[in-house]
Amino acid sequence: MKVSEPITHIMTTDVITVNTSNKLSEVRRLMADNSIHHMPVVDGQRLTGIISYSDILELSFTESVTDPIQRDAFLDDRCTITALMNSDVVTVSNNATLRDAAKALVGGRIHSVPVVDGKGHLSGMITSTDLIRTLLDWACDAKVAVIPFGGGTSVVGGVEGDVDDRYRAVVSLDLGQLDRVLDVERSSMSARIQAGATGPALESQLAEHGLTLRHFPQSFEFSTLGGWLATRAGGHFATVYTHIDDLVQSMRAVTPSGLWESRRLPGSGAGPSPDRVMLGSEGIFGVITEAWMHSVDTP
Ligand SMILES: Cc1cc2nc3c(=O)[nH]c(=O)nc-3n(C[C@H](O)[C@H](O)[C@H](O)COP(=O)(O)OP(=O)(O)OC[C@H]3O[C@@H](n4cnc5c(N)ncnc54)[C@H](O)[C@@H]3O)c2cc1C
Repeated sequence: MKVSEPITHIMTTDVITVNTSNKLSEVRRLMADNSIHHMPVVDGQRLTGIISYSDILELSFTESVTDPIQRDAFLDDRCTITALMNSDVVTVSNNATLRDAAKALVGGRIHSVPVVDGKGHLSGMITSTDLIRTLLDWACDAKVAVIPFGGGTSVVGGVEGDVDDRYRAVVSLDLGQLDRVLDVERSSMSARIQAGATGPALESQLAEHGLTLRHFPQSFEFSTLGGWLATRAGGHFATVYTHIDDLVQSMRAVTPSGLWESRRLPGSGAGPSPDRVMLGSEGIFGVITEAWMHSVDTP
């Protein structure tokens, strides 16, 4: 992987877009069906804004609408894409390199950035997941080990670059920038949280919605959601359900063979649980990027 490589080599080009004549309920459904968090708004081919799933959920949460049918009717009745979208969009040009894209994502504290040509036409999208995928592709070819790094509080050497002779080098992949609570769904008391969020970071964002994950390992202050999942952490500073396994609904990860995602279901007894593959994996199967987690009301 060269940081000077053009982003056009790795960006997604078949981007799902909406325009201002679409209804918010349509946007919500498209995002939910395609697991998209940010969707570009276009006028013809020209990028005019970006709309986020959180903004849509926030709107229905503010008005305490939880029934899905009522929520869609409420969204279409009360608001429009034009009113809700952000028109001041951070973009990168289609001449940009991987380094430029990484700078835009880190500098703007964002996780997807539209790629536009000289006329402001949308050419593609690039996400933090694309960058991790590219890193893993390169590492596989170059025989380099990649070790995910959450808070570094492992007590069993999980983040140490101690690998065998099959590898030519080691990269420690710090997930600290992936520290956001992306979505909160009050109706199901659930939240989609990025893997690099530490205990205090995710709890302060959940508290804005009156929720808590209620997972308190003794390393709470420094350890991260991704680390908790990858080590099957126990929240020894709380009582009753304190095991991270009991709180996870689904997970997303980037693996050396592509994206991996478990389905978010209200309950399932069908076959082995796919989440068990990643839970306790210590990063050997891939990089956990986010998870839907069950939360509870703050006392
Ligand atoms: C003072 C202290 C108190 C502790 N108290 C507890 C406790 O109460 N309960 C408990 O269970 N443990 C405890 N631990 C152990 C440790 O905090 C946990 O294992 C914690 O879950 C690690 O989280 P982390 O974010 O620091 O992960 P790291 O230490 O950074 O990584 C741990 C392992 O997970 C992998 N990993 C990290 N992030 C990801 C990711 N996003 N995707 C894939 N793999 C990843 C790493 O490669 C590594 O193998 C304690 C440790 C200390 C030092």
